[in-house]
Amino acid sequence: MKARIKIVEGDITKQDVDAIVNAANTSLLGGGGVDGAIHRAAGPELLEETRQLGGCPTGEAKASKGYRLPARWVIHTVGPVWHGGNRNEDTLLANCYKNSFQVAAELGVKTMAFPSISTGVYRFPLERAAKIAMSETKHFLEHNDTMEEVRFVCFGEEVKKTYEEIFSRVFKG
Ligand code: ADP
Repeated sequence: MKARIKIVEGDITKQDVDAIVNAANTSLLGGGGVDGAIHRAAGPELLEETRQLGGCPTGEAKASKGYRLPARWVIHTVGPVWHGGNRNEDTLLANCYKNSFQVAAELGVKTMAFPSISTGVYRFPLERAAKIAMSETKHFLEHNDTMEEVRFVCFGEEVKKTYEEIFSRVFKG
């Protein structure tokens, strides 16, 4: 199962996978960070489609096409804003991963890539977020044989190091 998880440094908009996950906001109308990069790379048709989706509550996920991206699909999920940890942030972030996997499975996605949801402008502590990402992925892959690759696309060396460390802890032995 470990072999189905990849940790790379790079730009998620360049990933040649069936689906990339977008760390969107509840409006689904685009924004800064990875969301802005995905909209720029996909082209204006993406916004035309996401306008029709009617927004997305925190923790949930909705799919659109990928347009000019190498990826066929974009799965938009909305991470929680970090408020110190007592506002259900852990559960909401776990829900982002659970619901993104569910949407991916419904679309028949075999390869997908995640950014580090909530750890940019939304300020979720990186190590804590990486633990949630990794344990939800482990849980999903334990019950799913269709998904061939779950790729974590780390923006910068520091994010990559953290993900690798958490990966080896979650999959020790
Ligand atoms: P959030 O609002 O959920 O915190 P951000 O986009 O601000 O989302 O940040 C989430 C993560 O995505 C951060 O680690 C940020 O560095 C990273 N990121 C920004 N641009 C890209 C990109 N093009 N590819 C992959 N990751 C990116």
